[in-house]
Amino acid sequence: MSAITDQNVWDVVVVGAGPAGSSAARVAAERGSTVLLVDRARFPRYKTCGGGLIGISIDHVPASVLDTVERRVGTVRFTLRGGSSTSHTEDRAFLSMVQRERFDDALAAAAVAAGATFVDGVLVKSVREEEFVVLATNQGEIRARAVVGADGTNGQCGRYVGVATGGVDLALELEITTPAVRRGWNEEVFFDWGEDAGSYAWMFPKDDILTVGVIQAKGSPDATRRYLDRWVGQLGLEDAEVQRSTGHLTQWRRDDSPLRRGRVIVAGDAAGLLDPWTREGISFALRSGTWAGEAAADGEHALEGYVGRVVAELGPEVRAGARLLRVFERHPRLVHLVIARSAIGSRLFVAVCRGQKTLAGIIRNRFARVALLVVSTRPTR
Ligand SMILES: Cc1cc2nc3c(=O)[nH]c(=O)nc-3n(C[C@H](O)[C@H](O)[C@H](O)COP(=O)(O)OP(=O)(O)OC[C@H]3O[C@@H](n4cnc5c(N)ncnc54)[C@H](O)[C@@H]3O)c2cc1C
Repeated sequence: MSAITDQNVWDVVVVGAGPAGSSAARVAAERGSTVLLVDRARFPRYKTCGGGLIGISIDHVPASVLDTVERRVGTVRFTLRGGSSTSHTEDRAFLSMVQRERFDDALAAAAVAAGATFVDGVLVKSVREEEFVVLATNQGEIRARAVVGADGTNGQCGRYVGVATGGVDLALELEITTPAVRRGWNEEVFFDWGEDAGSYAWMFPKDDILTVGVIQAKGSPDATRRYLDRWVGQLGLEDAEVQRSTGHLTQWRRDDSPLRRGRVIVAGDAAGLLDPWTREGISFALRSGTWAGEAAADGEHALEGYVGRVVAELGPEVRAGARLLRVFERHPRLVHLVIARSAIGSRLFVAVCRGQKTLAGIIRNRFARVALLVVSTRPTR
């Protein structure tokens, strides 16, 4: 028997060592549980992601992990379908940039420092419940009193729980070995609102690379690829050396999607917790992972409390993002004008990035509600 299967039963097993899983493992270990954190990948592992951290994310990571922040950004630039650009600069940075290999590795290390056992290279193949939860893996069976499924989009745990999606996107991303500083981009992020409904592109600077990507609804891979090519051309990076070229699906939950089955709860991408409009997901993973770790450590009676907390606190945010995505799909030019060219729009963008406001909070405002109602009845684009 291997080291992870010979202990009789773990209090908590966490599947997936991304931001959701490592947060869950750290918090459960801090509460005194025996915790096993497993991931199919060997760490440090690459994750297709912009690596942009909003203020809420920063508030939910241990201090040791903040050393992995490479850039703090105080300027945002926007274009609409490659047109003329508008920028907004703040005195104080409002977005932080990490490379996910380093960030996720530091989060896993924080879980280990709290007392969790982390084993990488463990692939969970199936989940079942008997007297305990039993995970069949490539290293044998693991048994747990509670499992936190944090295995990302389309994972085994989400499937076991029956997670239902409200929408799925395809993202394509390049890591380009052009130091941001050489372009004068080291303190700037750049977005373009794309041709196809709901699509957008980004350039996020890191220490020694630029992360350049596009996202749009799954189903038109050729159009997504063409958009990436256009975006790279717009940035003038056609001849730059590409260190990595990857694609990844993202999904968000349907409002009635389950978060628990028996003694298995899901967190982060595995639960479809992300903002459907901006596709920001790290803050959702860190928050839901933290709450999942607390609940799993507190015992079976606490698992329903986790479900209630996610529904109450993150449900409105996912719904707000889905509503704003629909507005953006129909009226990209209007959204561009509001965010990029109006003082109030830029201030709201920065406040969301800083974590001072949420999209759900913004659309609860009386004026925003009226504006959304008017916009929803206008003809498209
Ligand atoms: C292109 C792109 C850009 C993005 N940019 C941003 C951004 O700038 N800011 C932001 O906030 N969000 C961004 N997101 C979203 C963000 O990446 C995710 O929301 C976030 O990674 C979710 O974290 P997680 O811990 O839930 O899952 P993940 O980070 O996906 O981690 C899941 C882990 O589970 C492991 N795993 C999967 N299956 C198994 C299995 N069977 N057995 C064992 N282990 C398994 C995987 O190896 C992985 O390590 C972006 C997403 C994409 C696709």
